[in-house]
Amino acid sequence: TEALSSRDPELFQSITDELGRQRNEIELIASENIVSAAVMEAQGSVMTNKYAEGYPGRRYYGGCQFVDVAENLAIERAKELFGCGFANVQPNSGSQANQGAFMALIKPGDTILGMNLASGGHLTHGAAPNQSGKWFNAVQYGVRQQDNLIDYDEVAALAQEHQPKLIIAGGSAIPRQIDFAKFREIADSVGAYLMVDMAHFAGLVAAGEHPSPFPYADIATTTTHKTLRGPRGGMILTNDEAIAKKVNSAIFPGLQGGPLMHVIAAKAVAFGEALRPEFKTYQKQVRANAVALADQLMKGGLDMVTGGTDTHVMLVDLRPKGVKGNATEKALGRAHITCNKNGIPFDPEKPMVTSGIRLGTPAGTTRGFGEAEFRQIADWIVEVVDGLAANGEEGNAEIEEKVKAEVEAFCAKFPIYPTL
Ligand code: PLP
Repeated sequence: TEALSSRDPELFQSITDELGRQRNEIELIASENIVSAAVMEAQGSVMTNKYAEGYPGRRYYGGCQFVDVAENLAIERAKELFGCGFANVQPNSGSQANQGAFMALIKPGDTILGMNLASGGHLTHGAAPNQSGKWFNAVQYGVRQQDNLIDYDEVAALAQEHQPKLIIAGGSAIPRQIDFAKFREIADSVGAYLMVDMAHFAGLVAAGEHPSPFPYADIATTTTHKTLRGPRGGMILTNDEAIAKKVNSAIFPGLQGGPLMHVIAAKAVAFGEALRPEFKTYQKQVRANAVALADQLMKGGLDMVTGGTDTHVMLVDLRPKGVKGNATEKALGRAHITCNKNGIPFDPEKPMVTSGIRLGTPAGTTRGFGEAEFRQIADWIVEVVDGLAANGEEGNAEIEEKVKAEVEAFCAKFPIYPTL
């Protein structure tokens, strides 16, 4: 019964400070969002106490009748959202969803073909330091030098040469839509499975603002916390019953023990929200805002990898201003604009330095920012970057302080979690 504030003031303070940070800063990290109070309520519920190894109706523990209701709701809503026949909502994260897909379909030592990290792929798609790069024979494709778009000819040639068992489409910094039909054709040409990791753009797919991986993909994985705006977690989808059975065995008992039932409950809430008409309006705005942000940044003299975006995410090439990604991330942070440094394709800088920053509109759009607000944000970014360009690594404290004050006043007009 004791409140967290008195039971553990030190920890409580960290949460209070984090809430303050989220309220007072503009969140542009493309993989983040702001969940509803209802999603948080479900996640902070008594379902955290429950062991429920197994699946609804087939558990290894007693007393699962109510968590079964929650998991069935999450499964049914996920299937409806993505128009598919099967959903496993138990993966604890996007990485574990990918591990589950691998475990279901391939064996250690098998060849996989995924996008390299430097071009916008994810660690779990075969990067050398990741398990996927260590336990599989990972071959990697990239983007074309002339336009930074996926090089489908290279994908096809690598597939012919290496005969992968599994091809992965998707990534963490891909501003343009992916041609799933093309990937299917390539996968069929070598008899490979096609896996689409839609972690970043799943919310756009759910709202019809991005092509669906189905019917092209044999299996699709996603996180639930990015554009989909649910709790942190993962999910695996398929239309193939035989694959579905293998996925269930791969997640439990293959990889995980007791599922996080409180998180699954929160996934159900988020999927319910995503089925409402407002979610379509939201995702349309996410894209419109991204176009506005990219356009205004280019007007301010910055380059965009691929010349813009048709999703929620964009990669800013900072080289026209002569500044680096790491220094820019820090300078914007001092002005209360949060983003991450990110390598651009063929980046001449090291991964801890980079020539780029990655920006996204999902969190700001949830907060209520429209295109005019995102153009204003672009102007602030350009101001801070110009200060950095003129003053070197330490930036221009005067400009950063001025922008920070303006950002804080702006944020106050878009309150979040008013009841907390
Ligand atoms: N797949 C893609 C494309 C991602 O962008 C991410 C998140 O960074 C993941 C998988 C991994 O998700 P998580 O961070 O939940 O393990």
